[in-house]
Amino acid sequence: MKHETLDEHEAHGGDGDSVAISNEGLKMLLKGMTYPELEKWVQSHGYRPGQAMMLWKRMYGNNIWAHHIDELEGLNKDFKKMLNENAEFKALTQKEIRTASDGTRKILFTLEDGLVIETVVIPCDRGRTTVCVSSQVGCAMNCQFCYTGRMGLRRHLTAAEIVEQAVFARRLLTDEVGSITNVVFMGMGEPLHNIDNVIKAADIMVDEQGLQFSPRKVTISTSGLVPQLKRFLHESNCALAVSLNATTDEVRNWIMPINRKYKLELLLQTLREELCFKKNYKVLFEYVMLEGVNDSDGDAERLIELVKGIPCKINLISFNPHSGSFFKPTKDERMIEFRNTLAGAGLVVILRLSRGDDQMAACGQLGKPGTIQAPLLRVPEQFQMAIGSSA
Ligand code: SF4
Repeated sequence: MKHETLDEHEAHGGDGDSVAISNEGLKMLLKGMTYPELEKWVQSHGYRPGQAMMLWKRMYGNNIWAHHIDELEGLNKDFKKMLNENAEFKALTQKEIRTASDGTRKILFTLEDGLVIETVVIPCDRGRTTVCVSSQVGCAMNCQFCYTGRMGLRRHLTAAEIVEQAVFARRLLTDEVGSITNVVFMGMGEPLHNIDNVIKAADIMVDEQGLQFSPRKVTISTSGLVPQLKRFLHESNCALAVSLNATTDEVRNWIMPINRKYKLELLLQTLREELCFKKNYKVLFEYVMLEGVNDSDGDAERLIELVKGIPCKINLISFNPHSGSFFKPTKDERMIEFRNTLAGAGLVVILRLSRGDDQMAACGQLGKPGTIQAPLLRVPEQFQMAIGSSA
């Protein structure tokens, strides 16, 4: 299978949302539409907006999450007949659910074209459950510490395929894990590489008559696509996480090759400028800690300088080793020291314990690389000792 790079993909214009139409007899995929689009579509078939709202509430309302015509209680018979002929409710087929020992669930879905994506549901003891959705099959960014990155990019997900992961999570697991209140776009893929469909899916998720996620509880993560990040901050009220993971261009160019296109300084200056226009908005910087690579005292000092003037929180994440990766996780004591240095400088820091490791449901562990994999990059000489590589 061919794997696209970011440049190749942009060169032929990206996929866009293939306009919410399923293969099956050109039926309209309902979950790929925002409410105004659904209303227009319903009206174009001769029905009133009231019917559209009733349908919307049954697709997204609590304890219904309709997947089928038979679940549309109270809707007009003719309207249901029209839907039966012209609409498709489901974009995903549930394949399997795996449960890790800490309660994290990984749901595997098969798409219409047979590809498989993964969604993770992470219960939290404080009554807050998060669903982590995928935005692409694979990923073009080739971050060196990421299992998904090894797959290369197979394709973008449509808005319907993204929204339905959250709907499915609520439908399947609310009874078991309690209400699912948070969404993070941190599954397979670089969400802002698929920005049109991601913004649309997030809009559908925060609709007050529908899934009703609070915009501040829907977090879109990026490895640092600067133009798309600017657009996102202008067009969406949802939260933003930036995967930083290094404090010098040298290290970031290696472990996150997107940095060769959009350097650290440009990324951070863009955030500094753009966040001036947002009220009460903090970006979340994610920092996966890799022993001997990005966890020195010098890194902590540089990080403090780099984020100066940016309203932010910093999330220190324990690296989850996986097959084929040569990085090692930073030891807990070192992570705590690193955290203390940042906190001592007045930064808000969260130390994130790894979740779901035993079922490959933790950050950077989703997907299944095929036989052809994205290339591992040459390890800079000064890090070869730290990662035990002779590359
Ligand atoms: S960390 Fe995110 S952006 Fe980087 S390769 Fe993995 S999925 Fe893609």
